[in-house]
Parts: sequence; structure tokens; C-alpha cells
Amino acid sequence: MANPAATKEQIAKAEKNVESAINKYRQKEIKDALERMFHGKCAYCESQVTTTGYGDIEHFCPKRNPRCVNLTFEWSNLLLSCEKCNDAGHKGTQFPIDSNGNPLLIDPTDEETDINQHLDFSWDVVDGARVEGRDVRGKEVERIFDLNSDRGSRKELIKHRSARVKQILSLLKIAQQTANPDAIALLKEHCQPSAEYSAFALVHILPYLAHNFRDPEAIDLLREVSRRSTEYAAFALDRDLPSIS
Ligand SMILES: [Zn+2]
Repeated sequence: MANPAATKEQIAKAEKNVESAINKYRQKEIKDALERMFHGKCAYCESQVTTTGYGDIEHFCPKRNPRCVNLTFEWSNLLLSCEKCNDAGHKGTQFPIDSNGNPLLIDPTDEETDINQHLDFSWDVVDGARVEGRDVRGKEVERIFDLNSDRGSRKELIKHRSARVKQILSLLKIAQQTANPDAIALLKEHCQPSAEYSAFALVHILPYLAHNFRDPEAIDLLREVSRRSTEYAAFALDRDLPSIS
């Protein structure tokens, strides 16, 4: 029942509290949905957000950017990001464009964009697992998210990513030497979108699973990735894959 003695200020305050509770509820709903869509991984650095913090609702085109005011509540503009990738020292409100007005950053959900054309996912024992730009757009991604810095805020990312990639490459060695089915099954898990740093596994592991072990699921996945990425198909040699009956 309404309180007949309530002042205008009290009513306004109560309404504000209700509005704030609804917004909080909506934020949680959106965040939960994004966590499911992105498998709990940061859309930019591929780290599990739960290992680095709680993750942010990220607007690919920033809320305050005049060209994106209509996209504030558009799902297509929302991503899950770790706190580091999204902070003021990294993407923050940055949204660089080229001389034609097109975004330089790569939207991780845009299936039309061939990510392997712009970024190289390399590994070596000295430098570890690196994500390097192959062209202007890739270099901008590398610079803005500081993806290879072994100092400062990204030190943990480099350490964690390199340890994970080293681990899966060791697993590949075991699989090559023993053809152990458990090792092969684990390697396939690392190639799934839900796995941390699966972009590395797709480049360094999946072609072996398909070509050397002739694993049917790996062949299917390799074909799917090759369809989305001409750069990838070029080194995955899809034409050499065995046909599946
Ligand atoms: Zn991140």
C-alpha cells in the first residue's frame, strides 16, 4: 500500500532505487548471456575472464563514440572482454578508423573477416606464444591490446598464454610418439571455441590431427575453419585431406 505520508523526494528516491535495481538485473542478464556466447573467454585476448577477474560488458564501438550512439543496446556491438583489454590503458574508448572511415580494429564476432589474414599466432621457445599483426589492422590490434608485452599489465597474459601453448605442443609430441587416444581427445578439446587460446591450437595442432591422425572430427573442423579463412586454408592444405565416407 502506498505511504500517504511520503514526500515527493521520498517517492523520487524510491523510483530511482527501483530503476537502479532493474538496470543491475539487466546488466547481470546481459553479462550472463555474453559469458555463454563467448564461452567465458575475453573476445580480444582469449583468456578466461574468470581467471583474470569478472569480465566486462564491452561495446566494440564505444558508447560515447558519435558514430555508435544507436548501437549502445545492440547485441551485435556487445562482447565479453577481460578487464585489462577493456581498461583505459588498452582499448578503453579507442576506436581507430582508416582514411575511408572503416574501423581498424577487428570485430572478433565478424565471420566475414579472415582473422588469420591480419594476425599471426606464432610460437617459439625463446619468445613464447605471440600474436603479431600481419598488416595495418593486425598491427593496430597488437598495439592497442599490447598483446606481446612481457612487462607491465600484460605480463600475466604472456606468461599464462605461453605456458598453455607449450603444454598443448608437448601433448602433441606425446600423441605423435604414441598415438595415445586420450592425448588426441585432449588435443581436440584445445581446438574447440571454448578452449583458452584456441586460435593457437587451430594453427599449430588441428592440421596434425586432421592430416597425421586422420581424425574425422578434426577433418570436419579443419574444413570448417578453412572455409572461413583463405589464409588458413593455404597452409592447412585442405585439398590433401582424406575424404570421409
Ligand atoms: Zn582480454
